[in-house]
Amino acid sequence: MMNSFRFGTAINCIDGRTQQVVIDHMKQNYNIDGVDMVTFPGADGLFSNGDHSEEIALIRRAVSISIEKHGSRIIAVVGHYDCAGNPVTREHHYMHIRMAMREVSSWNLHAQIIGLYVNDKREIEEIK
Ligand SMILES: [Zn+2]
Repeated sequence: MMNSFRFGTAINCIDGRTQQVVIDHMKQNYNIDGVDMVTFPGADGLFSNGDHSEEIALIRRAVSISIEKHGSRIIAVVGHYDCAGNPVTREHHYMHIRMAMREVSSWNLHAQIIGLYVNDKREIEEIK
């Protein structure tokens, strides 16, 4: 473990348009040096119904390592515009991200949980 490096964690899409903006946003706003990125296609959508328990178990395992071994204290759940893996409206992404935030909260990992939406201008919208 690198004690001086401050890790954050993100549950994000595989989409290459979404990752650097999330890293930059988290570095600028949450006092971290880098992000452990856990990716699945349309990751936010996996939390919207009960058919994805295997993927969610893999995500949970990866996030737990980031928290427990890297000392991350923040987890971002990310959805984005024009997502091939979860092709729904902005409003539905907001709903899915909120559902994912609730699920991740239930893991009791002692980390702050935030929701982020990468919009059509590749800007970050923080979901309250
Ligand atoms: Zn996507």
